[in-house]
Amino acid sequence: MDLKELYRDVILDHNKRPRNFGTLVPSDAHAEGHNPLCGDQLTVWLRMKDGAIEDIRFEGKGCAISTASASLMTEAVKGKDRTAVMALYGRIHALLTQQDAVPDASLGKLAALSGVREFPARVKCASLCWHTLGAALERGAATVTTE
Ligand code: ZN
Repeated sequence: MDLKELYRDVILDHNKRPRNFGTLVPSDAHAEGHNPLCGDQLTVWLRMKDGAIEDIRFEGKGCAISTASASLMTEAVKGKDRTAVMALYGRIHALLTQQDAVPDASLGKLAALSGVREFPARVKCASLCWHTLGAALERGAATVTTE
């Protein structure tokens, strides 16, 4: 099996059986995201502890790439604070948009998203969940400072 097939299988698997799918009750923050270019919609819920993501769930409907990307994201960001999440998104964004970006081993299954750069119209499908998480984290941080 070559790398492209492996990446495709990861995307198909996470689309068919999305991880951390559903609502989170109670939650500390949530945000909704919409990608009008494709029709993808999703909501991300967060529970925070000591400034880091303790638990995360998402729900929504969209194309295989948007669902798989959100599923992979929820597995990758637990235990991370906002700074670490944004740094990780920076690396994902490079994978999605730079033809010569090489996924390093620490990205794990997120490396599968590098397959999306062959379809530039789908980059927004893959990045929607990250923008939505960023919005939820901003509200979460605001909640923390008012405690
Ligand atoms: Zn899409």
